[in-house]
Amino acid sequence: MKKHNFSAGPSILPRQVFEQAAAGVLDLSGSGLSILEISHRSNAFEEILDSTKQLVRSLLKLSDSYHVLFLSGGASSQFFMVPMNLLNPPETACYIDSGAWSLKAIKEAGHFGKISVLASSKDRQYAYIPKKYTVPDMATYLHITSNNTISGTQYHQWPESKPVLVADMSSDIFSRPLDIKPFGLIYAGAQKNMGPAGTTLVIIRDDLLGRVSREIPTMLNYQTHVSKNSMFNTPPVFPIYVTMLNLQWLHKQGGLEAAGRRNQEKARIIYDEVDRNSMFLGLADAEDRSLMNATFVLKDSALESDFLEACSAAGCEGVKGHRSIGGIRASIYNAMGKESVSVLADVMKEFEQKFG
Ligand code: PMP
Repeated sequence: MKKHNFSAGPSILPRQVFEQAAAGVLDLSGSGLSILEISHRSNAFEEILDSTKQLVRSLLKLSDSYHVLFLSGGASSQFFMVPMNLLNPPETACYIDSGAWSLKAIKEAGHFGKISVLASSKDRQYAYIPKKYTVPDMATYLHITSNNTISGTQYHQWPESKPVLVADMSSDIFSRPLDIKPFGLIYAGAQKNMGPAGTTLVIIRDDLLGRVSREIPTMLNYQTHVSKNSMFNTPPVFPIYVTMLNLQWLHKQGGLEAAGRRNQEKARIIYDEVDRNSMFLGLADAEDRSLMNATFVLKDSALESDFLEACSAAGCEGVKGHRSIGGIRASIYNAMGKESVSVLADVMKEFEQKFG
């Protein structure tokens, strides 16, 4: 039976990327060697790293003032690397608390300077994106989480801010067109729309390098990785290779404009059904709904396990909500086809016919 993978991450990648990645494990481009055994200093890998960087640059239309890094340590390591590299006491960094991942970023930033949390949507279980606040001109940066993977909310308009924006885009990078101008730094774990788990993309504007006076351990200093082209130490070779294959696929599909249109269409299918169907209730405010992670609950929570069983019987995997909030979460990243989303919507319709 065909499986439809709605997992929040690691998550679905295109079938063709799995096939190419598998081929590269056995024999990289006819070299007789596996991608897993070649030196990261080989020409073959340098070409892979270069073309992955170029794909990031061209998809996001980055100017020369931005550097593209592939690091390890997950997005979670960026929670502390960002303030460690950017925040110089007695400066203040501002944060918006839009969910569990924002909170983790806020906690880590507190180790490096003064943090001001300008707004939070905790009062309504993170069902919306906070909007009413003013960013002090003197702040060093404003940190936001562009897509809240757990609660299913997403920024559809960037905050007005004179200080530069820093964004955790782990779960929506490459899912829609992006105007890079307001951003000084963007980071994203690979394991949603980019590639497999194991590398973290960091995009940093040149003027933000070397701005703090504290001593930074070599591996945690962005300047190290900029000056060594992400090759100070052995980079995550295989995740970068698969990221290249995936971004090539995305480019061939028409880039971010086309991806944005497809993602809108898919999200509409699922949210239309949530709103129409008498058995379900959406968790996020309509205007802030995520195009990547649709979260909803059964009005009668006693029926949740029956619904999960119905999903499983139809091949829909990974729809159980995050353990911290429960309910249902359908993650519909770039590689998920419209047909798969329709399968889930049909399961919901049939469920209503049976139990409604
Ligand atoms: N930020 C967001 C928005 C996420 O969704 C996640 C993981 N799902 C993280 C940060 C943490 O990423 P990692 O596991 O790569 O550290």
